[in-house]
This record gives sequence, structure tokens and C-alpha cells, in this order.
Amino acid sequence: MSIAVNSRAAAGAPWRPRSSTSCSDRPSAPPSAPSRTPSSRLAACATDVEAGQSLLDRALLAHEKGELTPADAAKVKLFCTELRGRVVDRCLQLHGGYGYILEYPIAGAYADARVTRIYAGSSEIMKTIIAKDIGL
Ligand SMILES: Cc1cc2nc3c(=O)[nH]c(=O)nc-3n(C[C@H](O)[C@H](O)[C@H](O)COP(=O)(O)OP(=O)(O)OC[C@H]3O[C@@H](n4cnc5c(N)ncnc54)[C@H](O)[C@@H]3O)c2cc1C
Repeated sequence: MSIAVNSRAAAGAPWRPRSSTSCSDRPSAPPSAPSRTPSSRLAACATDVEAGQSLLDRALLAHEKGELTPADAAKVKLFCTELRGRVVDRCLQLHGGYGYILEYPIAGAYADARVTRIYAGSSEIMKTIIAKDIGL
């Protein structure tokens, strides 16, 4: 659950203008950089983040009541880490080649996002837990 919370929080930053890893943080980017970012990508990020927040809120409430099942925890870990990956990947793409250079925050954000689909149980393991829960 803590990885899910962290992933949802991290996914909330890079697509917002003026965040530390935002799409406009290239030193060479003109002040109007956010207007160069395709709005459809940012809309997809906002939608992903909101969906993750809803799932996370539901899971946290269940956890507080002692009702969170392993399968529900697996779903929220899977969803939030995958959404973080999608969000950061879209934002990295907006930087073009600069996004791949490690001295730019978005490249670090990409690496940080990628490992969350491996540790604390990989995405594949989360899917095996969920599959078992639905009787497969
Ligand atoms: C930065 C970092 C920090 C870590 N910190 C900790 C820690 O604090 N405590 C701790 O205990 N561990 C920690 N780990 C270990 C982490 O939990 C494991 O790396 C993770 O569980 C995956 O195991 P593995 O690396 O042995 O990969 P493997 O189990 O060898 O998996 C390799 C690939 O095969 C896939 N795979 C494996 N089994 C299946 C399956 N049944 N079905 C389908 N696909 C499968 C995996 O998804 C993965 O893509 C950390 C790892 C990293 C990278």
C-alpha cells in the first residue's frame, strides 16, 4: 500500500507546470513551454491520476476498517505503479531527447517509477494474486 500511495503522489507532479520534474523544466525551455505540451497527453495524465486516487481512497478506507484483502491491495499496487509509469513516460516523451539525459529530473523520475513495478512484488505477481482471487 505504501508503494501505491507513493506512486500516486509521484504521478501527480510531473505533468503539472512548475513542478520540480514538470514538462517545462528544461533549462532551454521558453516560459511558454507548457503551451507546447499536447493537451491530450496532460488530460490523459490527469485522468489516470484521478482514477488511481479513487482506487487508493477506497483501499485506504478498507485498510482502516481492517477489511482490505490481499487481492484488493494487489490491485491498487498494480494500478498505481502502472499509472505512474504511464504518466512519467508521457512527460518524458514531451522533453524529446533531453528527457533521456539523467541530469534532467524527468529522467530520474522515469527510473524511480520503473522500479516500483518490480519491487514489493512485481506487477506480474500482483496479477497472479488477483487472478487467484477471481478463481483463475
Ligand atoms: C531497488 C530495490 C529495492 C528492493 N528492496 C527490497 C526490500 O527492501 N526488501 C525485500 O525483501 N526485497 C527488496 N527488493 C527485491 C524485490 O522485492 C525483488 O526484486 C522483486 O520481488 C522481484 O524479484 P526478483 O528481482 O527476484 O525477480 P524475479 O522473481 O526473478 O522476476 C524476474 C521477472 O520475472 C517475472 N516473474 C517472476 N515470477 C513470475 C510469475 N510467477 N509469473 C509471471 N512472471 C513472473 C517478474 O515479474 C520479473 O519481471 C528490492 C529490489 C529493488 C530493485
